Amino acid sequence: MKYYILFGPPGAGKGTHAGAIAQKYNLKHISTGELLRAEIAAGTELGRQAKSLIDAGMLVPDAVVEGMIESAFDTIKGVDGFLLDGFPRNLAQAADLDKILEKRGEEVTAVVALMISDETIRKRIKGRALIEGRADDANDETISNRIRTYHAQTEPLKAYYQAAGKYYECDGDNGTIEDNRNRVLALVESIK
Ligand code: ADP
Repeated sequence: MKYYILFGPPGAGKGTHAGAIAQKYNLKHISTGELLRAEIAAGTELGRQAKSLIDAGMLVPDAVVEGMIESAFDTIKGVDGFLLDGFPRNLAQAADLDKILEKRGEEVTAVVALMISDETIRKRIKGRALIEGRADDANDETISNRIRTYHAQTEPLKAYYQAAGKYYECDGDNGTIEDNRNRVLALVESIK
């Protein structure tokens, strides 16, 4: 099985390009953000607890997202691998993912990173707020906190996966959506 991690700041285009990558390589796309929003929409206790953290621009507890990921690995069949989007998001989650995969005799295949500037993060999220209506996209302070959370907690994963020789990055900032999709697809193809 292949285990790809789609990596990058909020608004980098992970969700926008995940479908094309997943389809091309017969991967199941798993977005922890989408799974959490489904819990919120369903009004579960987990969703209720997650919502206040998400709306504050903070991460939900590691155990919550790791449980979602493990249960996806347990139940989803008929694919050649997984495309993880929004997970791992800090070093503890990355170390736990390594353990989860090791138990299965598997490992992370590669990290595919889309890089954009902080200025583009703000612009993209504000544009998305008008289209998708996500509460965490609409508030300036939440956006600032998510940018801070990204730099403090998520960005260190770059060095973690570089040290493992698994980190591949391309520009997600310039050109059209299609340009960016072609760039990320070429990057994944170069890894295989
Ligand atoms: P974006 O990429 O725009 O930040 P996501 O849909 O990936 O959006 O995530 C939305 C929110 O869900 C995050 O800001 C965070 O609060 C929560 N979340 C998603 N994935 C994780 C994770 N792996 N660990 C902790 N919190 C997460």
